[in-house]
Amino acid sequence: MSIVHSAHRPPAIDRVLNWPAVIPLIEQYGRQPVLGAVRDLLDSLRQAARAGHAPDYGEAQLAARLGERLARDQASRLRRVYNLTGTVLHTNLGRAPLPEAAVEALVMAARDPCALEYDLATGGRGDRDDVVEDLLRELTGAEAATVVNNNAAAVFLLLNTLALRREVVVSRGELVEIGGAFRVPDIMGRAGAKLKEVGTTNRTHLRDFEGAIAPRTAMLMKVHTSNYAIQGFTASVPEAELASLAHEHRLPFVVDLGSGTLTDLARWGLPHEPTPQDSLNAGADLVSFSGDKLLGGPQAGILVGRADLIKKIKKNPLKRALRVGKLTLAALEAVLRLYRDPERLPERLASLRLLTRSGGDIEAQARRLLPALQAAVAGWPVAVSAEPALSQIGSGSLPVDRLASHALVLRPQGRKSGVLHEIEAALRGLPVPVIGRIADGALRLDLRCLEDEPGFCGQLAALSRP
Ligand SMILES: *Cc1c(COP(=O)(O)O)cnc(C)c1O
Repeated sequence: MSIVHSAHRPPAIDRVLNWPAVIPLIEQYGRQPVLGAVRDLLDSLRQAARAGHAPDYGEAQLAARLGERLARDQASRLRRVYNLTGTVLHTNLGRAPLPEAAVEALVMAARDPCALEYDLATGGRGDRDDVVEDLLRELTGAEAATVVNNNAAAVFLLLNTLALRREVVVSRGELVEIGGAFRVPDIMGRAGAKLKEVGTTNRTHLRDFEGAIAPRTAMLMKVHTSNYAIQGFTASVPEAELASLAHEHRLPFVVDLGSGTLTDLARWGLPHEPTPQDSLNAGADLVSFSGDKLLGGPQAGILVGRADLIKKIKKNPLKRALRVGKLTLAALEAVLRLYRDPERLPERLASLRLLTRSGGDIEAQARRLLPALQAAVAGWPVAVSAEPALSQIGSGSLPVDRLASHALVLRPQGRKSGVLHEIEAALRGLPVPVIGRIADGALRLDLRCLEDEPGFCGQLAALSRP
């Protein structure tokens, strides 16, 4: 005869583990995690009891709470989300989504051994940069190329290799900070190079650079002011003039391009963004750019340019500390391959597909989704409408340009402005969190990056008011 457990007294842990309602949880999550969850749950119920509450220790009740706890603990921290912020290359949301070809290459490299540093022709040792160097040379026209963890690392490594204890001449208008953690002067200091600022914030002339060149000068450098624009009474020196000046003094001219793309975006109606080819053609000896900004690939820092300089950089022991892994190289190779066929790039390169979506297409989507969102938030004091919006490219690319888009806009009815933060939190709490943006008294869901429409709609019903 089994003893019926009283729902008013805490059960023994061993008994809980044998309850029929708990056994499936052990099968799903494993004995150890369930044991931990039972202990935690019973502890918190005992505390509640001491505080004067009367916890329900019944089997069904406890098993349900255990199930919730285990599911929550098991959920990945690196959750997939819907990026409806209106910023396509959102650094906090992982920047560029990878194209299918890159995802496949990455999975292959993850699952199986691959010829990462192995020369299949000779059976000898290879160099991991070989995986992408030929492609980078072909696409940029550079003599040589190398890849490191990100563009900050690329800039750091080139400075540390070519300008240690020497001076780097940079325009004052280009001493940029990117996303708080990357400041050109800080990186320079840490790399052991001395910053020699020239000109003023808004105007720098060739003669400013000329006057700064001294025996201690290691290089002239240009930093692309990617995340802001100086407008009005401005002057900066064209790359070709800086290159000639540097070369007259037998110095290298280096360009940190930030966001780099390998094709002219203007062909798809996007604003022109300078390419590494442009800088190399203007005479730059080295150009660095990111893998996961406009290029649309994995996080990486790419250096292209003169073979002798790249060779020196690769010999720096820090290259070993900053190198990329096989997953990055696999994805980067696949992305670079797509650039060989620029005509089909917008269909194939996920980030470019999002950037080139037409305003009309997004508007039609907004009209389709409007009734579903209106129904889902019917219990909240908000009005929902579909309105024109302006998306940003993001990641410091093309800072002043905006792309015509459309958004679902939620506005509080009456004076309940706090409701926007409640809905924003509820959207974040969905199985696939939806990330929007509150601005000017409204919560905006810019639909430019919403490709999985069924998935988005399918979970809206869970948005009922608590
Ligand atoms: C983004 C950016 C960087 C940093 O690149 P990460 O790949 O994010 O490390 C450096 N310089 C410029 C000009 C940039 O725009």
